[in-house]
Amino acid sequence: MLSTVKNTALYTYYLSHLWKSTQSANRQKAAILMYHGVTDQMINLWTQVHIDNFKNQMKHIKENCNPISLTELVQARTEKKVLPEYSVCITFDDGFRNNFTTAYPVLKEYNIPATIFVTTSFIDKTGRYDGYIWTDYILMLLIDSSETNFSDTAIGITNASLNTLDEKICLKEQITAFLKSKSSEEKERYITNLKNKLKVSEIDHSHPVCSSMTWEEVQKISADPLITIGAHTVNHPILSQIEATEIDEEIIGSKMILEQKLNRKITLFAYPNGRPQDYNQKAIATAQNHFDAAISTIEGLSPYDDDHYQLKRIPVGNDTKLWQFKLHLAGIYESIKSGSAS
Ligand SMILES: [Zn+2]
Repeated sequence: MLSTVKNTALYTYYLSHLWKSTQSANRQKAAILMYHGVTDQMINLWTQVHIDNFKNQMKHIKENCNPISLTELVQARTEKKVLPEYSVCITFDDGFRNNFTTAYPVLKEYNIPATIFVTTSFIDKTGRYDGYIWTDYILMLLIDSSETNFSDTAIGITNASLNTLDEKICLKEQITAFLKSKSSEEKERYITNLKNKLKVSEIDHSHPVCSSMTWEEVQKISADPLITIGAHTVNHPILSQIEATEIDEEIIGSKMILEQKLNRKITLFAYPNGRPQDYNQKAIATAQNHFDAAISTIEGLSPYDDDHYQLKRIPVGNDTKLWQFKLHLAGIYESIKSGSAS
């Protein structure tokens, strides 16, 4: 019946009248939200949200839901305990510095717990691409370049402006789309040439949007009981594309580094990229042997009897309006979007 709902006003009407009853239908499913960062600039980067949006979202959660830590959720599911109704968990992936500088103060203000899944080489700034995921590294090269325009006939880019962060993000999307189907050797060769072409000698690791936390910051944030640190591998590989021994090294290695650096047990894991095609049975088995739970990026609420080692999440970005956010938490956004709600 909702396939004819065409505009926000009607969605809002629907929301204001049926919010509580539809949410009730999903009360035994927890919503695990996925962010990468919170920024003070309005930018178009996946699951990096503007601070004003983040504040509105946390305010809604505080007033209408029950924010709990992911550890609490996993524990309750393991012990088959009933959780508070409308439980919501907040998660961040990778370990961006803005988690510490920008998201953390908001989480403190609303007293909302969060789990940050850290890629250890990103914090170390070591390895290929200085620990950055290759797509983020390309963005860092564009950010750090003092060139004012960019051309690459192979991609069909002529004199693209490099003056604003948004222009650089847009260019990064074009370059990464072009490189996605290339082999890792071809990718590496292209990125080395790109670095020379953009005349970048060293990456500036202090950029507020894209750089990582320092170990000192990870230690500081993890000392707060509000924040849980989880593992996210050492180098952020696509686990389904590497050998079984490397899967162990990546998953167990990141747990060991974090436990050593933070002097506490690390019990939660998030698969890099996290779509079903990005991990395999071996990765699941390793996670089962070393963690209490593992989390994917498969979209949806997590029913209490769901697989603890493939927990689902709801991605939140700047394109997620507050009314959409509310429908996501109620677990009905997708069905309304596809017109299948009744
Ligand atoms: Zn990640």
